Amino acid sequence: MIRVGVGYDVHRFEAGRKLILGGVEIPHEKGLAGHSDADALIHAIIDALLGAGALGDIGAHFPDTDEAYRGADSRELLARVVALLEERGMKPGNVDSVVVAQRPKLATHIPEMREVISSILGIPLDRVGVKATTGEGLGFVGREEGIAAHAVCTISLESP
Ligand code: MG
Repeated sequence: MIRVGVGYDVHRFEAGRKLILGGVEIPHEKGLAGHSDADALIHAIIDALLGAGALGDIGAHFPDTDEAYRGADSRELLARVVALLEERGMKPGNVDSVVVAQRPKLATHIPEMREVISSILGIPLDRVGVKATTGEGLGFVGREEGIAAHAVCTISLESP
């Protein structure tokens, strides 16, 4: 059985923080604010995977009120979600995603993001899509107030 999930996340920019997207540190004059490392792309992928498994959302599993997750590396949270799925006989099939950011340009960082995500999910690179688009100057993305990310995924469920 194949199941589909969707995820979405937004983080606002904050001076003095690192910009981490898809597990990759991207040179920029500001980063994203958040309780964890604020990796909006990985958070969207986590929510897509949890959604496909009907296992709730990232906030339920890793609450931002929990000191344990302060400054958390989102790559580790993603690995825990993959393990959670595995315990239930579910395996990631493929992931596609879009990061919506006015700046910085992300194209040159996408190959590394795909590498990171495919290795954590344990699936080949050709099953991981990461795309980037701008906000065309519109809305909160266009005003460079923050970055959004969308993700969809499939997971396969072994029949019991
Ligand atoms: Mg988030």
